Amino acid sequence: MQMETRLVQIGVGRDKTTGALSFPVYQSTAYRHPALGESTGYDYTRTANPTRDVLEQAIASLEGGDGGFACASGMAAIQTIMGLFSQGDHLIVSLDLYGGTYRLFEQVMKRFGLSFDYVDLRDPALVRAAIRSSTRAILAETPTNPLMQVTDLAQMVQIAREHDLLLIVDNTFLSPYYQRPLELGADIVFHSATKYLGGHNDVLAGLIVTKGSELTERMRFLHNSIGAVLGPQDCWLLMRGMKTLALRMERHQANAFQIARFLTTHPAVTEVFYTGLPEHEGHEVQRRQASGFGGMVSFRIRHSSMVAPFLESLQLISFAESLGGVESLCTYPATQTHADVPPDIRQAVGVCDRLLRLSIGIEHADDLTADLRQALDKALEKGGELS
Ligand SMILES: *Cc1c(COP(=O)(O)O)cnc(C)c1O
Repeated sequence: MQMETRLVQIGVGRDKTTGALSFPVYQSTAYRHPALGESTGYDYTRTANPTRDVLEQAIASLEGGDGGFACASGMAAIQTIMGLFSQGDHLIVSLDLYGGTYRLFEQVMKRFGLSFDYVDLRDPALVRAAIRSSTRAILAETPTNPLMQVTDLAQMVQIAREHDLLLIVDNTFLSPYYQRPLELGADIVFHSATKYLGGHNDVLAGLIVTKGSELTERMRFLHNSIGAVLGPQDCWLLMRGMKTLALRMERHQANAFQIARFLTTHPAVTEVFYTGLPEHEGHEVQRRQASGFGGMVSFRIRHSSMVAPFLESLQLISFAESLGGVESLCTYPATQTHADVPPDIRQAVGVCDRLLRLSIGIEHADDLTADLRQALDKALEKGGELS
């Protein structure tokens, strides 16, 4: 069945007792056993919950994997995955990376004896050069946040296989609707499902999908042992969001194309980062490995003094720190998502103080363009006075 159909049909036909179309929330932590040594399949909700099961099977199917695991947040998902590694292990990670992932690795996981090298994964020679005898995995975010750099996943699969490494992919930005890394040979995919999968800025959640029975069983053990699982009410809310993923992604993308093109024409903008634009350096790789480009657009404003007047002038688009919801948001990575990345590293990566990131929502594209136009015009006037 096509992805659109599988999304809409999540949970349908699963509640045999009542036929409920919307699969119920099983708000029970414990389950009565029929007899000694017998179980209904459910014993304790951290281990398994009927509502969470429906969600986990859905995401495993959508990503083309063997096991799905719902976690309390995207960060909880990454923490659970980190349980695969032991003291002394080394990981190669995308250089341009979600700030919270960087913070977890540098300020928490390092204390447990793991080490990380942040490498520009667009260059396979750099990846090969970073491999040590203790390297266990490559962790790729593609396209990256916020610079929209595209990693060639087939290349990473090849390197990972040659050196017996796990390939882990953060698929938050494109969702399984546009990109399925497991089908390309990756071992683990994870999501901040708070973003596109949930889609309505109303549920915090993370999802992990594994390929292969051994890895799936190890992850099942870690998911239960670490316990950062998603509550049944939030599982239900997330599934409700996922049913419309296909429609939303199509509109996010159509709007993003119109806005990216508009931004390239405005005199207050010096650079636009959208993988859908043919001039984007990662466009060809993205076309090859994904079926779409998504709804995230970043740009550099002409002068840093224009940032404040631009953000203050936005009326429809909210200045807020998230992405992937139906409402359009604008983020300033330097002080928000990437505040915990040291300034020198941020600058070296290109997350400078002129960079702004848009999560394009599903409003009418003309209204979004009009809002951006008036805010950029004002920024040009006021920023010009300040600089
Ligand atoms: C938001 C985000 C995360 C973290 O997810 P939470 O649900 O906020 O914990 C990880 N990776 C990316 C790319 C994100 O955008």
